[in-house]
This record gives sequence, structure tokens and C-alpha cells, in this order.
Amino acid sequence: MKAVRVHTLGGPEALRYEDVPEPTPKAGEAVVKVDAAGLNYIDVYFRTGVYKAALPVTLGMEAGGTVTAVGPGVTEVQAGDRVAYTGVPGAYAELAAVPAQRLVVLPAGVGTRQGAAAMLQGMTAHYLASSTWPLKSGDTCLVHAAAGGVGLLLCQMARMRGARVIGTVSTEAKARLAREAGADEVILYTTQDFEAEVKRLTDGKGVQVVYDSVGKTTFDKGFNCLAPRGMMILYGQSSGPVGTFDPQVLNQKGSVFLTRPSLFHYTATRAELLARAGEVLGWVRDGALKLRTELEFPLKDAAEAHRALEARRTTGKVLLIP
Ligand code: NDP
Repeated sequence: MKAVRVHTLGGPEALRYEDVPEPTPKAGEAVVKVDAAGLNYIDVYFRTGVYKAALPVTLGMEAGGTVTAVGPGVTEVQAGDRVAYTGVPGAYAELAAVPAQRLVVLPAGVGTRQGAAAMLQGMTAHYLASSTWPLKSGDTCLVHAAAGGVGLLLCQMARMRGARVIGTVSTEAKARLAREAGADEVILYTTQDFEAEVKRLTDGKGVQVVYDSVGKTTFDKGFNCLAPRGMMILYGQSSGPVGTFDPQVLNQKGSVFLTRPSLFHYTATRAELLARAGEVLGWVRDGALKLRTELEFPLKDAAEAHRALEARRTTGKVLLIP
């Protein structure tokens, strides 16, 4: 079968579309025929070595498809089930062996491509909006990269919970998408000073929570946007890592909180995974949550997809089709 692997860390050219042996399911595993793999920023981190993996590694942490075989002891799924998953490397492939514990059977009415688009970024937006800082009516949140994969979903979920949403984006076209997803206000942080704009939009009061996936270029200023006892949620670093941090800043900025969460810790048990995925996929089925999945690349062109993501040319979800 074909897969996209990295043998040597590097740029998009490090992605090799090549033949690899077909997987057979070990105890507790199921083999999934991948209909679509989700592209996520974490794939860039693994390709470049920001996150470590033994080489060669098949990239891809998310897919939707159909179970073709199960190993001994598997009770969660059976051959023929339409499933989606995240958190297991190896999705950039025609077939993937996945611990059955991580598989979620898709509800009727949700396709495997939608499953691939919803799992990683959807459950991330879900835990950010409902668990890390459970947004409520009266809260205002700042969502950086609001037209991105996580961003568009986070805007929608924040609005579903009754919060006011201020988004940041790099272009007018992205601003339109963020507004359609529910952002009340959108700041072009490439041309406008987002700190001054947030202060203006909140009458100097600041926001209860900053959702920061951009990191290096936004992190420090984000603290100046927080209301007293608000929370800085640093959940990514698309622009690069933030520097060292002095906890005294938390005092100076108004007894604020800082957390650096990971989806892994918010879906660690099967019960939490099923509850979170169930709610997200249910919203997709009911039309309450819109997935933007216009951008699809053949799996063999994964390098092109990486270039587009890193050059900020993508919006919403990007899928790779084997
Ligand atoms: P996005 O679709 O959001 O793509 C990244 C976006 O970041 C770009 O489109 C761009 O939006 C913005 N950006 C700002 N500066 C840069 C830069 N210098 N280079 C590239 N992009 C930049 O990606 P994802 O939705 O896949 O992921 C978003 C972030 O969330 C990533 O940092 C990822 O690691 C993180 N994440 C964290 C998780 C967790 O549990 N901790 C889980 C999932 C994702 P614009 O052009 O509008 O500035």
C-alpha cells in the first residue's frame, strides 16, 4: 500500500509517498481503510522535529474510514463499521492499524470525510470552549487564527455557549469566514494592533479568555488583553515557540491564569473520548456545527498541502485523500 513517510526531518520535501507493507491488526487493534486523513499543524511539528518520533514515521494523527479487520480481543468495533479517530500516528496511508479504544463509530448521517475533519480540531475546540474555560453568556473571548481549522470551530462553539467572540485573522477573506462562523468582531492582526483593538472593543475591560494557537507573535500581548482573573490558553505555536515565562507576569496582569493544554489529556479515557466525540459529531449530523472542508489534496500531494498550511493559505480543514 501507499503511505507518506518522513525519513529525515525537514521541509515539505521531506514527505515521501512510497510503498510500505500493509498492516495486520494486533491484539486490541483494528485496521481502517482510510477514506480521508486530516491535515493538522501537529503534522508539521512532527515533520520538522519540534515533536519527536522514531524515523521513518508515517505522519497523520487523524482519519475517517471503514474497519476492514480486527485483532484478538476487540469489542469496540467490527469489520464494516464506519469510524473516525485521532491521536494515533500513521493516518497518511491507505490503511492504518489503530488501537480500537481510540476509534469512534460515526453516527448515521455523518460521512467518513466529515469524521476525518471533525475529530482532532473539533474535539480541541470542544475542550477549549467547554472544559479548559467553560464559556458562558457574558464572557468575551479572543480567538487567534479564527479562520483556521480549530479557529472556525471554536468561534462556532463559543457562540453556541453564549459568549461574545473577537477573532484575529490575517486577511479580509479570512475575516469574512470568521464572521460567518460567529465572530462578533474580527481584527486583522497583520495590520492592526490587536491589543489596542481588544481594549477598544471591550471598553478597556479586556476579555475573560484568550485562545492562543499562534504563540510567538501573539503570546506576550495577549496578556494585556485579559480582564483580571482571566485565562491565557496557549494551545499551539503556529508562528514559533514562546520564550521562557516568569510567573510574576500572572500577578502583574491581574492574577490571571496560564495553561498549556493538549487534546490528549482531554480525551485520555474512552468515556471522555466518546462523550466529546459524540457531542461534536452529533452537532455535525444536526447541522449545528459547520465543517469547512473545501480544501482536499490527493495523499501523494501531501507536501503541497503542508506548504499551503505553513504559508497561511488554508482556511478550515484540509483533507488528504488516499
Ligand atoms: P490552522 O488552520 O489554524 O493554521 C494555522 C494558522 O495560524 C494560519 O492559517 C494562520 O492564520 C495562523 N498563523 C499565524 N502566524 C502564522 C505563521 N507564522 N505561520 C503559519 N501560520 C500562522 O491550523 P490548525 O487548526 O491545524 O492548528 C492551529 C493551532 O492549534 C496549531 O498551533 C496547532 O498546533 C494547535 N493545536 C493544538 C491542539 C492542542 O490540543 N493543544 C490540538 C489542535 C491544534 P492567519 O493567516 O489568519 O494568521
